Amino acid sequence: MTFTFITLFREIMEGYFNDSILKRAMEEKRFTIDFRNPRDYTKNKHLKVDDYAAGGGAGLTLMPQPLFDLLGSLKKESPKVHIIAMTPAGKPFRQADAVRLSHKEHIAFISGRYEGIDERVIETYCDEVFSIGDYILTGGELPSLVLCDAISRNLDGVLGNQGSLDEESFNDDLLEAPSFSKPATFNGIGTPSEYLKGNHSKIADLKFVLALDKTKYFRPDMYKRLNKKGKQ
Ligand code: SAM
Repeated sequence: MTFTFITLFREIMEGYFNDSILKRAMEEKRFTIDFRNPRDYTKNKHLKVDDYAAGGGAGLTLMPQPLFDLLGSLKKESPKVHIIAMTPAGKPFRQADAVRLSHKEHIAFISGRYEGIDERVIETYCDEVFSIGDYILTGGELPSLVLCDAISRNLDGVLGNQGSLDEESFNDDLLEAPSFSKPATFNGIGTPSEYLKGNHSKIADLKFVLALDKTKYFRPDMYKRLNKKGKQ
C-alpha cells in the first residue's frame, strides 16, 4: 500500500515515520509513503499557492490550479488512487473507516492550510472528506498522519501481534477493558485478582463486564448503540 501526502510542509510529517512501529513496517515494505508539494505545480510566477477567498472573509484559501495539476498527474500515474481531503467540515473519521481504507492500494491525503481548500478541488477530485474532531487545527498535516497511522496498523504484519487489533476499543462499539502490567500491586493499588489467576475464560468474562462499565461511563453514545444491538 502507498500513502501520498499532499502538503506544503513535508518536514512536519516526515519525523513521524522515523521511529517505532511504523518505521519497522516501512522497512519491511508493508507500506510506502511519498510527498507532493502543491508549490511544485503552481503556474504563478511568484510560486503562490493561495489567494484571498472569493466573497471576502478573513484569510487565504488554497487555489485550485496547483492542486488540479498535482491531482491530475497523480491520477494519471496511479488511476486507482483514493483521494481524501482533510477538513473540519468532513465526516467524522472512525475505526470502521480505518479498517475499510486499509484495503485500498493507494491513498492520497490533501492537507489544507490557512482557511482551507478551494471547494472545486474537493468536488472534482476527492473520493472522501474527513474530520478528526470538532475543533480547528492550523493545518491538515496532523489529521493526515492520524488517518495514515490508524489505517496502516490494520495492514498485515504492521503490528507484531495481530490479536491486539481484535481487543482494541471501538470494535463492536465497546471500549477496551482497563489494562494492568507488573507488579500486581503498585503504590498500594492492586490489579483485579481475576486477572492474576490464569483462567482465560473468567478473565474474558470480567474484561467484558469492565469494558461495558467503561463504555457506559465514558461513551454513553456508544453504550446506547450497544443497547440497541442487545449486546450489553
Ligand atoms: N476555515 C476552515 C473551517 O472553518 O472549516 C478551517 C481551516 S483550518 C485552519 C486549515 C486546514 O486544517 C483545513 O483545511 C484542514 O485541512 C485542516 N484541519 C483543521 N482542523 C481539522 C479537523 N478537525 N479535521 C480535519 N482537518 C482539519
